[in-house]
Amino acid sequence: MSAGSLDQNAGVVASDLQVPDSMRAWVLGDPEQLTLIEKPVPVPGKAEALVRIDAVAICATDLEVISYGTPAIFEGGAPFNKSFTPGHEYMGTIAALGPGVDEFRIGQRVTVEIHAGCGQCKRCRAGMYTSCHNYGDQSKGHRANGFTTNGGFAEYAVNHINTMIAVPDEMSDEEATLVVTAGTSMYGLTELGGLVAGESVVVIGPGPIGLLAVAVAKALGASPVILVGTRDNRLEIGQKLGADITLNAKTEDVVARVMEITGKGADYVVDAAGTGETVNQAVHMTNRGGKVCLAAFPKNAVEFDIGYLAVNNIYLYGIRGEGKSATHRAMAFMAEKRFDASLVHTHTFPLEDLPEALRHARERVDDAIKVVVSMRQGREAAQAAE
Ligand SMILES: [Zn+2]
Ligand SMILES: [Zn+2]
Repeated sequence: MSAGSLDQNAGVVASDLQVPDSMRAWVLGDPEQLTLIEKPVPVPGKAEALVRIDAVAICATDLEVISYGTPAIFEGGAPFNKSFTPGHEYMGTIAALGPGVDEFRIGQRVTVEIHAGCGQCKRCRAGMYTSCHNYGDQSKGHRANGFTTNGGFAEYAVNHINTMIAVPDEMSDEEATLVVTAGTSMYGLTELGGLVAGESVVVIGPGPIGLLAVAVAKALGASPVILVGTRDNRLEIGQKLGADITLNAKTEDVVARVMEITGKGADYVVDAAGTGETVNQAVHMTNRGGKVCLAAFPKNAVEFDIGYLAVNNIYLYGIRGEGKSATHRAMAFMAEKRFDASLVHTHTFPLEDLPEALRHARERVDDAIKVVVSMRQGREAAQAAE
């Protein structure tokens, strides 16, 4: 298909980039069964754009979707149908615009957040579109790309304009894929009240969200920022991202250490590990009247001292995804280089090597943290070979 010929398709008004009819996309058959197929390039509708994907990062949640299907909390997903494409942390270049879209232009680089809410329920109207009451209902306009609608392990995806964030020219593709991760950390701190300047913040769990929660808390002025983990190499990256103090839970009583450092306990604790043990640690290292954010959560019921929460007036926040446009605030920090998110990016693979990329992420091969699949690299290699 030649440039611009998508005009014939209902819904698309303009396209300058060469948009083919079909694309390569990984699809999920049975659990763990990913196949690279050719499927039609999707067509953007009203308030949507077609994104040519340049890079997509792998997230722990992708591994769960691929192993177990879309988690029950993401109701409405139909992942094992041999046409569903997972992958949600992607960025790319706008290749076509739906009717009436003038907020973005063709050729512009964008990164995406996952959730486009229905825009009409009570939660969407309050900016809590990640907790949309019409979750999974595409007829209401809801999309969660990579969970209930097709995602980024493909050459193209359709995104609602509300889910796209412009990427500055200087920012690499790989770094731009991390905006949704930093945005999730930002949303956690937003829900805790956001005014963390001069307040003590503990982050438990130096995975990507925890590490970027350290970076965001520091950029927001928190002091001190304490990172708790079990692997020294991750704690070192945390220091580079802004942790004032790191504690190793393997060798230290982290609750006692936080009490010692802060005097009365931390003002805010972000649990980005989400085990029964870390939930308990989080609650017991928070000071009276302080706040705990569950940025990760235990998959099974856990026992903890809920009475301790009540008598100490401790607030417990569950956060879901990257609501309230937190990705835009995260991007503002990243564009200003207030922290170097690319420190958590460790590996890059071409699209056809997705299974190997997933293995690196799952088994943490070579201390993998964020593994990125780059379509741009594959395209450039193909062009060079011509
Ligand atoms: Zn993710
Ligand atoms: Zn909604």
